[in-house]
Amino acid sequence: MILITGGAGYIGSHCAIDFIKQGYDVIILDNLSTGHMEIIERLKEFSSKEEVNGNFIDFINADIRDTYALNVLFNTYKIDCVIHFAANSLVNESVIDPKKYYNNNVTGSISLLNAMVENNVKKIVFSSTCATYGEPEYVPIDEKHPQKPVNPYGNTKLAMEFAIKDYAKAYGLKYAIFRYFNVIGADKDGVSGEWHDIETHLVPNILKADESKVFKLFGDDYDTKDGTCVRDYIDVCDLAHAHTLAYEYLKENTSTIINLGTGDGQSVKEIFSAVEKTLEKEIPLENHPRREGDPAKLIANPELANTVIGWKSQTPLENSIKNANEWEKILKILQNKENKVQENFSRKAIL
Ligand code: UDP
Repeated sequence: MILITGGAGYIGSHCAIDFIKQGYDVIILDNLSTGHMEIIERLKEFSSKEEVNGNFIDFINADIRDTYALNVLFNTYKIDCVIHFAANSLVNESVIDPKKYYNNNVTGSISLLNAMVENNVKKIVFSSTCATYGEPEYVPIDEKHPQKPVNPYGNTKLAMEFAIKDYAKAYGLKYAIFRYFNVIGADKDGVSGEWHDIETHLVPNILKADESKVFKLFGDDYDTKDGTCVRDYIDVCDLAHAHTLAYEYLKENTSTIINLGTGDGQSVKEIFSAVEKTLEKEIPLENHPRREGDPAKLIANPELANTVIGWKSQTPLENSIKNANEWEKILKILQNKENKVQENFSRKAIL
């Protein structure tokens, strides 16, 4: 059985979908601080469908710092591998509130590692980030690139990379550490997608833009092909599938550290044009000054992912955009539903 922490969130839920599709039983642990109960409901509904029937999915609403909950979980279920997503991941927020990031990303992850050691769970797949590389010294970035994060978010992820390696050596854990580049898209069946209460990411922000909410482009004076930042955009379903491959790899092999990206760089302007073209409509745009802490260019060298776990990104950008756009329509309905529940709740509290 597989434990997915943070499985009610964007990447974690897509990972749950992939494990279920591959025939694995899944438990999700999430404190719903940024994840959504509605996503859990949708995963349960998906797992009960005929074509994926037979897979078990359970949900535990708890924090990774809750040692008691972790011990109960590990005593109740025979967990073979932990896929660890539960974390905060907004760079700007991490600069303003590092306490939150060290508490959740470091203290929380250490608590999880300790519970794993205590309960003899020996495999972990950890979601790290290209933010651990900091300002790139060269692109494409391979796994040997120096790691010099430039914000607390990157620092907390790098700290956990060190901890996992030390725990592995001392307690016989095996790990796959993934350093993600820019994740976009949504599951093609509309089970899950990007759902952040405050959306900061590029593709959803372009998709949400309209006359009343103009898309803001942050910085057009970078030293790049068209002056806007270049990133490596990887589809969330492709990324999720790398986790099942990593689990299968860890059954037979030792630990590994791998970049997950496409190897291809797109500028903000290119992504914007691709969305306009895919949706066949014009989207209002405003130029704004650079956003603090955005490096000009981040592109992965994904060679190791291919040679070590046999992974390659497959989804064309256009499909990722289409799926993300379909998800935006579902999301509007889900958010309205959630708002209504909250309104009713507040009304009852006042009465
Ligand atoms: N970006 C933008 N407008 C937005 C959101 C993002 O111009 O509303 C730019 C951002 O400055 C960066 C790129 O899009 O250059 C990717 O940003 P995102 O937040 O999606 O990912 P990051 O690379 O920061 O992890």
